[in-house]
Amino acid sequence: MLGEGIVKGMLETAKNFAGSFVSEDRLTTVEYPEQRIPTAENARVFPFLIYDGPDWHAGLRCVACQICEKECPPKCIYIEKSKDKKPDFVGKPQIYPARFDIDISVCMSCQICVEVCPFEAIKMDTEFELATGDRFGGLLLDCRELAKSNEYYHSIHPTEAAEVDARLAEEKKAAEAKAKAAAAAAAQKAAADAAAKAAAPKPGAPAAGGS
Ligand code: SF4
Ligand code: SF4
Repeated sequence: MLGEGIVKGMLETAKNFAGSFVSEDRLTTVEYPEQRIPTAENARVFPFLIYDGPDWHAGLRCVACQICEKECPPKCIYIEKSKDKKPDFVGKPQIYPARFDIDISVCMSCQICVEVCPFEAIKMDTEFELATGDRFGGLLLDCRELAKSNEYYHSIHPTEAAEVDARLAEEKKAAEAKAKAAAAAAAQKAAADAAAKAAAPKPGAPAAGGS
C-alpha cells in the first residue's frame, strides 16, 4: 500500500513517545552534553599512536616504517623518519618518527592504517568532540597530540587491548628466546674454536712421533 512505510514509522514514533512517559526503556534520546550514552567498545573515530611506559616519546611503538602512510586512501598521514635510533618494545634499536601528523579533517575513519601496521602502534580512538574554529591547523594533529598511553587504549577498547598485549608478550618471549639461543650458539662456537686452537701444534714445536 502506498505510504505504508510512513504510517508504520509514525506509529513506532508515537508508541515510543507515549511509552516514554511510563517506561525509561522507550527514552531513545538523552540531553547531550549533560547526559551521555556510554561509548560502545567497538566505536571508532580517528587514529592515535600508542606508547608504553611513562615517557610518550621513549615508549612510542611506531618505528616509522611508513606502511600506514602508503596505504591510507585519502593520504592524510605525513611521516618523517628519524636520523638516529631508539629501542623498540623488544629492546631492538629502531628508527622512530621524527614527524608524524594526521590531518583528521581528511581522515575517513576507515581503519586501514590500523590493519596494516605490523607493530600494533596505531589504533582507533573513540574521542569525537574535536570541533574547532581553527580551519588551518586545528585538525592537523602532530605526534605529541596523537600519542596516548597503552592504559588509555585499555580504557577504551579493553578486549582488543588485552589481545594485543598477549600477542606482543608472545613476540617478546620469542625474540628473547631467539637472542638467548644465538648467544648460546656463539659461546659454544667460541669455546670450540678455543679448544681447537689449544690442541693445534705450536709453531716450531717437534711434531708428535718424530725422531
Ligand atoms: S583511518 Fe583511514 S583515512 Fe584515517 S588515517 Fe587511517 S587509513 Fe587514513
Ligand atoms: S604507525 Fe605502524 S605502520 Fe604506521 S609508520 Fe608507525 S609502525 Fe609503521
